[in-house]
Amino acid sequence: MARYTGPSCRLCRREGQKLFLKGERCYSTKCGIERRNYAPGQHGLGRRTKATEYGLQLREKQKAKRFYGLLEAQFKNYFEKAARQKGLTGENLLILLETRLDNVVYRMGFASSRKEARQLVTHNHFTVNGKKQNIPSFQVKAGDVIKVKEKSAASPKFKEIRDMAITTPSWITVDTEKLEGKVVAMPRREDIDTPIAEHLIVELYSK
Ligand code: SF4
Repeated sequence: MARYTGPSCRLCRREGQKLFLKGERCYSTKCGIERRNYAPGQHGLGRRTKATEYGLQLREKQKAKRFYGLLEAQFKNYFEKAARQKGLTGENLLILLETRLDNVVYRMGFASSRKEARQLVTHNHFTVNGKKQNIPSFQVKAGDVIKVKEKSAASPKFKEIRDMAITTPSWITVDTEKLEGKVVAMPRREDIDTPIAEHLIVELYSK
C-alpha cells in the first residue's frame, strides 16, 4: 500500500507540534520543531489566517492519522468501526488506534517510534501469545502477551533494551529481561496521552 515517504519532520511542522515520528531525534535539539517551528513550504513563515471550524477539524484528523502513521482510507475504516461499536465514537477510535500491535510494541519500549515498531513487526520479530504475528494493524486485547522472538532477542537492537528503564502506560506491563510485555487491561480514554481532541474528528466525519 502506498505510504508517505517524505520527511517526517515536515509532518510535525505542518501540525505545529511534535508527533514523535523519529525516535531519539525527537528528544534532541535536532528536532525539526525545535529548529524551525513554522509550517513547511514557501509560505510557512507568512501570516497565518485564523482557522475555520472545518480547518480545525481537518487538522485534528490529520494529526491523529500522522501520529499513528495511517493513510486516509485506513483511518476512515477505523472511524467507521468505532462508530459501529457501543459507547462514544471518539473514544472508541482512540482505543482502536492505541491497541494496534505496532503501537503497543512502541508503548512497550521495544521501538523508539511507531514507524520503527511497524517495521519490526513486519520483519517478524514478535509473537503474540506464543504465535508469530507480523501484521502491524493486529488488534491486541487484554491478557495478550507480546514477546520478542528468541532468535531476534540476540540482536543488538533488543539487547540494549534489556538495560533500559521503560515507562509504560498503566494498561501495559513490561519485563525487559524477558523482552516481553503484557496488555493487562484495555486502555481507557484517560490512559491515552496522545494529544488529540477526538470530538473534532467525530464532528468532521459527521458532516
Ligand atoms: Fe517531529 Fe521528531 Fe522530527 Fe521533531 S524530530 S519534528 S518530533 S519527527
